[in-house]
Amino acid sequence: MTANPLRDPRDKRLPRIAGPCSLVVFGVTGDLARRKVMPAIYDLANRGLLPPGFSLVGYARRDWEDQDFSKVVHDAVKQNARTPFREETWAALSEGMRFVPGDFGDDAAFATLAKTLAELDESRGTGGNHAFYLSIPPKFFAEVVGQLKEHGLTDSHGDSWRRVVVEKPFGHDLASARELNRIVEEVFPPSSVFRIDHYLGKETVQNILALRFANQLFEPIWNRNFVDHVQITMAEDIGIGGRAGYYDGIGAARDVLQNHLLQLLALTAMEEPVSFSPDDLRAEKEKVLSAIRLPSDLAASTARGRYTAGWQGGEKVVGYCEEEGIPADSTTETYAAVKLELDTRRWAGVPFYLRTGKRLGRRVTEIALVFQRVPHLPFETTATEELGQNALVCRIQPDEGTTVRFGSKVPGSAMEVRDVTMDFAYGGAFTESSPEAYERLILDVLLGDPPLFPRAREVELSWQVLDPIEEFWATQGPPEGYAAGTWGPPSADELLARDGRVWRRP
Ligand code: NAP
Repeated sequence: MTANPLRDPRDKRLPRIAGPCSLVVFGVTGDLARRKVMPAIYDLANRGLLPPGFSLVGYARRDWEDQDFSKVVHDAVKQNARTPFREETWAALSEGMRFVPGDFGDDAAFATLAKTLAELDESRGTGGNHAFYLSIPPKFFAEVVGQLKEHGLTDSHGDSWRRVVVEKPFGHDLASARELNRIVEEVFPPSSVFRIDHYLGKETVQNILALRFANQLFEPIWNRNFVDHVQITMAEDIGIGGRAGYYDGIGAARDVLQNHLLQLLALTAMEEPVSFSPDDLRAEKEKVLSAIRLPSDLAASTARGRYTAGWQGGEKVVGYCEEEGIPADSTTETYAAVKLELDTRRWAGVPFYLRTGKRLGRRVTEIALVFQRVPHLPFETTATEELGQNALVCRIQPDEGTTVRFGSKVPGSAMEVRDVTMDFAYGGAFTESSPEAYERLILDVLLGDPPLFPRAREVELSWQVLDPIEEFWATQGPPEGYAAGTWGPPSADELLARDGRVWRRP
């Protein structure tokens, strides 16, 4: 691919260009590949970040020729790419597209895949460097990794490399995650395993590290001496869409809390890493995850719910149990909230409240540090009636940025104090639009740059937090209902009310 006019030479955020390689995507006909993976590959190409000769191999159960596959990628790119469609980029990218038809159990198809990759090494100079992206249902991870090994696709020669990309969910409890780690790391060395938590690819999530460690302003108050509590929210306004098969039996806690929310907690609570090297960064996150303490009374410190019919965006929507493909006796939750504490000097006694749910009032992901009240207010009580607690809010999505809430005098002759906010918005401060998380993460895979990918221990520690909660919920019958478009079940409000606090209404 030639030098690209779309790539701003001042863009220092992603100046790294991948070396010669090919990427094999298993599950190319799936939802994730169509919406995220293939568009991100095109966007990387459009920004000049893929090497000349980059090759994309699709593997799926379709009777397709290379050109049929290329047409599918073309449509996905037209519908979902972030950057404009350029014929020149497309022509260069599509030259390197190949398709291998087959089931995961099909030995002949894996032999064809091996031949195809060898041919690409010859014809397009991909140098034996191959990444395998498992955009497939997790129950097939072990089979595909086994097939790759069986057909010699995991053996690299000389300086060449082989890597595997695994999507979430990585296991469904601690035991299955351990088993999966064992299977994958028996075949690929740990440094070649890239477990995707796409939240870590988001600019705003990486900005937590910049906000904390590039500034003198915040870190001195980022601890139990000043912070009253922390709220981490990932709220979706959508329901499960057509993904009943994936979602039922998994639920909100396994789908979001175990990975995205605990990663956000780790970045918020961790100590400053010695460097941003993969080992240093991940070691600090692991320390936080291993310091998490679940309150002993899980009935009082967790809440779960399931949406019922209601109104959303002016539209009447059905409840979870009426969604197509959901069994009548389902006990899956679509809302989960939990109170966690950390046994560390920095955070002892500060509750971290985590919540996630579908069909909530608004789509929003944020981390809010809510500060203690001032020990003494030298004002008339009536003057500060409308004054809340100071807060620092990292707005992960949408409306990306940071907000500080503090008290300010209301103009006028009386000394009245009220909350105001000071905002940093990405859109207002930077002219470049943020790359999609998948752009950053796929590029990191091709570059072999792993800091943004959780390693085995992080995943296992996260399941260790969730397992007792899931076991407790399994004894509790179906989740409590909440009307679509509201902010979750009453038990979630009660969880905070018991501590004299309320959830933010973003
Ligand atoms: P999906 O729509 O169900 O797609 C699954 C893909 O796997 C399809 O291409 C399917 O091909 C293929 N496949 C299934 N069984 C196969 C077999 N025996 N042999 C060959 N191919 C087979 O799943 P998805 O939503 O794209 O999710 C893929 C992975 O990403 C999952 O691990 C999921 O948990 C994870 N993920 C998805 C999302 C999302 O937003 N969709 C978000 C985060 C993580 P056929 O067309 O032939 O069935």
